[in-house]
Amino acid sequence: MECVNPLRTGLAVAEAQRVVLALARQLGSESVAGADALGRVLAEPVLSTRTLPPADNSAMDGYALRFADLAGATRAAPVVLRVAFEVAAGARLERAVAPGQAARIFTGAPLPPGADTVVKQEDTEREGALVRVRVAPSPGENVRLAGEDVRAGELVLDSGTELGPAALGLLAALGRTVVAVRQRPRVAIVAGGDELVEPDGAVSDGKIVSSNSYTLAAQCRRAGAEPIYLGIARDTPEALEERLRAGSGADLIVSSGGVSVGEHDYVRPALEKLGCTLLFWGVQMKPGYPVVFGRFGETGPLVFGLPGNPVSAMVTFEQFVRPVLRKMAGHRAWFRPRVHATLAHDFDKSEGRTHFVRVFLEPKPDAPGEFLARSTGSQGSGILRSMALADGLLVIPAAQTRLRAGERGLVQVLDEGFFAAREPGV
Ligand code: AMP
Ligand code: MG
Repeated sequence: MECVNPLRTGLAVAEAQRVVLALARQLGSESVAGADALGRVLAEPVLSTRTLPPADNSAMDGYALRFADLAGATRAAPVVLRVAFEVAAGARLERAVAPGQAARIFTGAPLPPGADTVVKQEDTEREGALVRVRVAPSPGENVRLAGEDVRAGELVLDSGTELGPAALGLLAALGRTVVAVRQRPRVAIVAGGDELVEPDGAVSDGKIVSSNSYTLAAQCRRAGAEPIYLGIARDTPEALEERLRAGSGADLIVSSGGVSVGEHDYVRPALEKLGCTLLFWGVQMKPGYPVVFGRFGETGPLVFGLPGNPVSAMVTFEQFVRPVLRKMAGHRAWFRPRVHATLAHDFDKSEGRTHFVRVFLEPKPDAPGEFLARSTGSQGSGILRSMALADGLLVIPAAQTRLRAGERGLVQVLDEGFFAAREPGV
């Protein structure tokens, strides 16, 4: 009986994304110190074993007292209380505030028993052992209640949360010095082509630098993955097989080049020879049609054979590899943020493929929160410079043939840098 070849060709972008994401599995977890966990994804729900703040405490420097003692205090008719003792931040409570008394208190100091309210220093006048209070506070004013931030037993951070500075502070406050985070995907990167040299190599005789080795490794890092660069493979089946085999211990293999229909395009046959099941070749997109996707068995790495053209490699990485890496790394959201933008000029295209147009995004001066999209320059799939300038990729759906200036389109945001402001926002 013939083995059924599952290889599909000419898929729509969304369909190809479904195929790759269906095979991507979340990686295991590892323990890291809180100090090293910035940007990592929690692999466990964090339940609090503590109450934060641990006790009622003062939000101000002032006087802790009984609200009931201050009814009707005004500037003209202040209430006078006896200052019985003092509580500093970090102090142990030993005494209670009795009726007619106040305790001198400082920010963060625990509220003594008997007191329920703090009047800030600026609303008082001190005279020896007495304090004159010139305002009637509201009950509980300037008191931070025990547990108003976190209660013991509460779910504080859920599994799948990307740890930022505030979350790391919270973990520290809860006494969590070690947390379980998702492993970072390890990505083997292979560049294929006889014309390729490393950046310090000679670029005579038709040689070019393998810039994909850099763009793809950087894209991996930006996606929270760990690139493992396996170097340049010559355009022979043996050389490619050898490099691809070297990547078999990684979570994912990403090669670039050698996936078209030329005589020297050996990635597909090399993958098949190594026992890789190919799922698709060719996605209806521009740039980036000839992308290959496969898997090594049930447990081996997934493999992407990206096209060699520098922008095709980057754009196919964005659409397929990055979401897979985000899923493997435990993120809940796998796709780039996107904004609607008004087009600054017409975009023409032919029907049939989804186009990804490199654009600048500019905030519209007259409409806060809205953006203008403008081409960054030549859109050839080898023009890396217009990719380097791009804030985002304008997505023009396959069925569409033209978008006119003034119409709105969806832009995948590649670099949040364009949100950065030159003016203070206060
Ligand atoms: P290929 O997909 O191998 O036919 O390559 C398509 C184009 O991309 C050719 O112009 C290659 O020279 C170029 N290319 C292939 N691999 C790389 C790479 N690693 N870095 C930069 N350009 C590349
Ligand atoms: Mg080639």
